[in-house]
Amino acid sequence: MKRLFQISLLGNVSFKDSFTNKKTESTRKTRCNSGGLLLPVVKTGQIEAAGNGTVETINTGGPAPVVLVCEHASKFIPAYLNGLGLSEEAASSHAAWDPGALAVATLLSTKLNAPLIAQRISRLVYDCNRPPEAPSAMPEKSEIYEVPGNVSLSDEQRQDRVNKFYRPFQSEVMQTINAKYASGQRPVMITIHSFTPVYNGKIRPVEVGVLHDSDTRFADALLDALCPSDLCDIQRNQPYGPEDGVTHTLINQAQSRGLLNVMIEIRNDLIAERADQMKIADLLGEAILQVLPQFSAETSVSGQGAIAKARAAD
Ligand SMILES: [Zn+2]
Repeated sequence: MKRLFQISLLGNVSFKDSFTNKKTESTRKTRCNSGGLLLPVVKTGQIEAAGNGTVETINTGGPAPVVLVCEHASKFIPAYLNGLGLSEEAASSHAAWDPGALAVATLLSTKLNAPLIAQRISRLVYDCNRPPEAPSAMPEKSEIYEVPGNVSLSDEQRQDRVNKFYRPFQSEVMQTINAKYASGQRPVMITIHSFTPVYNGKIRPVEVGVLHDSDTRFADALLDALCPSDLCDIQRNQPYGPEDGVTHTLINQAQSRGLLNVMIEIRNDLIAERADQMKIADLLGEAILQVLPQFSAETSVSGQGAIAKARAAD
């Protein structure tokens, strides 16, 4: 079966149409280090002191052993930054945010019944999937767009954005993970992103990317559940991979603690409409729900303890 979504890129068949036309068919044809069991607990006061209202947590008490993250949820630029000097086109483009990603992540939060942490400032203000030392954390240029408000920032200006946006976001993610630990779970971290169908003039045929760094456990299982698919072109570590520096949150918040993790990239023309967002969320959510039971030991604090004891006895 040929890729229906590649046709949609040419404007002939929409993602919605491709689903509608195939509604009688199935919607799907189808280890790393163990880490410590206890995380450093972030004091609530730290969050409150650093908070600026741009980090939002949805479904905080969702009981699934999953923490959803959406770093590029919004194109909002705080007024004091004067729009970063961006053109109207740049300020609303994919360079400023991941269109559709928050909508899909929110639907997944409901479907999985899991908490979702979303950063609600533009990634051109601070890209929360980048460490403070990365030039791309506050880029002077993103793809074809110049970002005048990021040119020649002083150390103080950079640190101010780190303090206002990056640290509160990281703290909120950590606090959500800590809460999972307190309830006996070692959660899977799933980050949700979208990407542009045309980048630097080149058409990207991939429609959904399943990305990972050196811990491939959850990505492997998810790819097994999703592929082959007659609905969309799903690929491993596309259109980006760890070599592009996109796995910062996975490494910093999950892999460093031995937590299962995966990053999902969805081509943004496939999630422009509400109906399509729901269909993609359903496709991904069903696959995640199918995969989670395979990791019941890894996602439970007691199960992980039992694994560690068994290894020690070997
Ligand atoms: Zn993104």
